Amino acid sequence: MTPFIYSAQSSRIIFGAGSLAGLPAELKVLGISKALVLTTPQQAALGERVATLLAARSVGVFSGAVMHVPIEAAVEARAVAAQLGADGCIAVGGGSTLGLAKAIALTSSLPIVAVPTTYAGSEVTPIYGLTEGGLKKTGRDLRVLPRSVIYDPELTLTLPYSMSITSGMNAIAHAAEGLYAQDGSPIIALMAAEALRALADALPRIQVNPHDIAARSEALYGAWLAGTVLGHVSMGLHHKLCHTLGGSFSLPHAETHSAILPHALAYNASAASQAMKIMARALGIDRVPQDLHGLACRLGAPTSLRSLGMLEDDLDLAADLAVQTPYPNPCALHREALRELLQRAWEGAPPA
Ligand code: NAD
Repeated sequence: MTPFIYSAQSSRIIFGAGSLAGLPAELKVLGISKALVLTTPQQAALGERVATLLAARSVGVFSGAVMHVPIEAAVEARAVAAQLGADGCIAVGGGSTLGLAKAIALTSSLPIVAVPTTYAGSEVTPIYGLTEGGLKKTGRDLRVLPRSVIYDPELTLTLPYSMSITSGMNAIAHAAEGLYAQDGSPIIALMAAEALRALADALPRIQVNPHDIAARSEALYGAWLAGTVLGHVSMGLHHKLCHTLGGSFSLPHAETHSAILPHALAYNASAASQAMKIMARALGIDRVPQDLHGLACRLGAPTSLRSLGMLEDDLDLAADLAVQTPYPNPCALHREALRELLQRAWEGAPPA
């Protein structure tokens, strides 16, 4: 067996349809009596519903969460939390809302309780990101890891189908790259494989019926495991490329994951044969990159960067940026090969 190091990160996980009702009790356990509820503007009504549920344990709702956590939003939310004397934050939403809660926790150490409503997985990672002057900087800090997570699949029933699928592909990407991470371990591999199995089973069922609560539960379960993988190991080519494309070309987060993943896996396949075998078994497919591309097509998930608004003229710069900072990856990073990968992903062609 390959030697490994595994540091478990602890969050309390409360999972089940209707589990939002247990939020007040969870705050009591954590000793939070003045919670600030955070949401995006689009989920403000859900934030109000949560504040009502919390009654006297809530000091208000701040609905200013924005994708990629602009520093201005973080500064405003930190000021609101301080002004209201909040002793904890409740992040109700996807990765953007979690990101805002993390920005507050980073400077105040306020505990976070997460109520995720997408499959992004940020609720179980100590990873934060802040965007300043057009540049998104990310880091890891255990202060931003939520203390408790309430996974209530009922809250995902309103997630539009297209977002459900792209967010699901985002989760699949966490698990896939976790399988060949240089700091992986057997327990991470177990979680990653189970995440892939659950997501591959659930997403086509959500396509048939987005209101299928059993399928929604299984997808959220897979997202929890995939997020846990993301939180414990470092990611490779796929995540770095998506980070570059999102940060420097303003491409949308989850959609970009969907378009890039089959190509990144094809790039790494020859140097990650064990990971590919596990992925194939878990996803129930043969040729992982090609069949994953096929799955994305069948689900109607984005498969081309062109459809996401990327300009072909920007592909050269994207390839340059992709090799600027070295990082561990199964296959060495070669600029020309990455340029070719980006071309295929831009066109929406099947992976090489
Ligand atoms: P998001 O949080 O930006 O949500 C997208 C939109 O969907 C928002 O308007 C949101 O209000 C809405 N929405 C969310 N759940 C909904 C629901 N159930 N019903 C109706 N509308 C709903 O999208 P995301 O993909 O979850 O998060 C993306 C962000 O998260 C990116 O900035 C990404 O970098 C970050 N992220 C961070 C980590 C981490 O570990 N730090 C992990 C994954 C993603």
